[in-house]
Amino acid sequence: MSTSEFVIGAIYLAAATLFVVGLHLMRAPSTARRGNLISAGGMVLAVLTTILFALVTTGGTWVGWGSLVVGAAVGAVFGVAQARTVKMTAVPQLVSIFNAVGGGAAAAVAFASFVADTNQTPLSLTVSIPIVLDVLIGSVTFAGSLIAAGKLQGIISGSPLIFPGSRVLNVVVAVIALGAGVRALFGPPDVLVLLVVLIAALAFGVLMVLPIGGADAPVIVSLLNAFTGLAVAMAGFAIDNQALIIAGALVGAAGTILTLQMAKAMNRSVGSIMLGGFGTGDAAASTGSAPEDLTNVRQLDADDVAIQLAYAQHVLIVPGYGLAAAQAQHEVAELAKLLLDHGVDVKYAIHPVAGRMPGHMNVLLAEANVPYDQMLQLDEANSAFDTCDVALVVGANDVCNPDARKPGNAVSGMPILDVDRAKSVVVLKRSMHPGYAGIGNPLFTDPKTGMFFADAKKGLADIVTAVKEYVTA
Ligand code: NDP
Repeated sequence: MSTSEFVIGAIYLAAATLFVVGLHLMRAPSTARRGNLISAGGMVLAVLTTILFALVTTGGTWVGWGSLVVGAAVGAVFGVAQARTVKMTAVPQLVSIFNAVGGGAAAAVAFASFVADTNQTPLSLTVSIPIVLDVLIGSVTFAGSLIAAGKLQGIISGSPLIFPGSRVLNVVVAVIALGAGVRALFGPPDVLVLLVVLIAALAFGVLMVLPIGGADAPVIVSLLNAFTGLAVAMAGFAIDNQALIIAGALVGAAGTILTLQMAKAMNRSVGSIMLGGFGTGDAAASTGSAPEDLTNVRQLDADDVAIQLAYAQHVLIVPGYGLAAAQAQHEVAELAKLLLDHGVDVKYAIHPVAGRMPGHMNVLLAEANVPYDQMLQLDEANSAFDTCDVALVVGANDVCNPDARKPGNAVSGMPILDVDRAKSVVVLKRSMHPGYAGIGNPLFTDPKTGMFFADAKKGLADIVTAVKEYVTA
């Protein structure tokens, strides 16, 4: 090993240490921001070291290090611009696009490395296995993540897109991709065979995500995140870069753990995702009343809600996607503080898949400086509903749909927040329209529920004004 290789290895080890420390800090909301910065610092160190290494080993030729500098600069400018301008509600789509870019880049690296290496035939299995796996996983991730982003953005229907024979087609495409992969490993090196792997894997990525619908998107988004990590780790083996191997392995492991936890939280099986759809009741007819049907709906205004809240002893606020869409986190925090100052016990009931990305509600409420000890997670919250006087649901729908307890619909089996066990319920949303899963919610017509139809930001501001008037009267 040369001195420069030793130095590079040592710096990569330092970068890897920063990744691990950063990930460790990300496990608690109070240290997550610091963890993010430390991991980002590790990544900057790894990228600069790679460029420096290319500069040393290529003797300063432009193609070696110059292209790396240009690539890193273009990526950094795009990433910073997106991160600064993206709306909070569009972060999940952005994460999906980043997954696509990561998987696509890893597949491209492996493909290019194969094309370069086929000149030095024959390839050993230690070289060709990571290349083929990288092209397979990276291409599935690229195509699947683009479809997931399209679904989250509403460009592609969020409903499951299933056609006759779609599962059989999934299996056929998977067999073609794997068969060509085996041929690429054991046959004479042939770029065309690897191209078949790539195209079949792209098709599998599309077919794998299209049938995912209703409430099941969180699992597929985190599974694709895990795939990105695996593809990047394989790219590290393909081009012999330890930093990529370590960073990819960490993302792959963290993504896998998250996927398993999300699947468990949603009572779904990860295995069935791979062959298209969850096979439960995604395509089942909607339940509950039609969106425009206001029969059996008890409507409230801001004053009614304010009085109920001010008279209550225990209030649980249930935030959902609508809170994020309306950017109403500051208004909800102000209302909670006002009630707390008035002597009401206020907590937030957080569902793990409320919103459009894992941990969405925690991030949103942390932005409004809501103390972490006020946020109850699913089990804790569910044991608090029995003694809750008013459950205030703000822009949440699927995560508190009692139909999840029944079979045959898009949210069947998904653990929910048992909002219907509270003594009374107030739901703040704009209409009777369904949430992401596209089905009605019988909670809205429950006799103990009052509906306050308003945009979450405006509605909460009106409730704050009404509570202030009430408590100072
Ligand atoms: P839902 O999507 O079920 O419901 C959100 C509700 O918010 C809608 O019914 C909508 O009703 C209301 N809303 C939208 N905009 C506003 C606004 N400006 N003001 C007030 N209300 C508004 O959200 P939940 O959080 O309950 O559930 C999350 C769903 O998303 C689950 O199905 C989950 O599986 C899925 N999902 C979650 C992901 C994750 O990782 N967390 C990723 C992808 C999907 P109206 O139009 O009447 O106002």
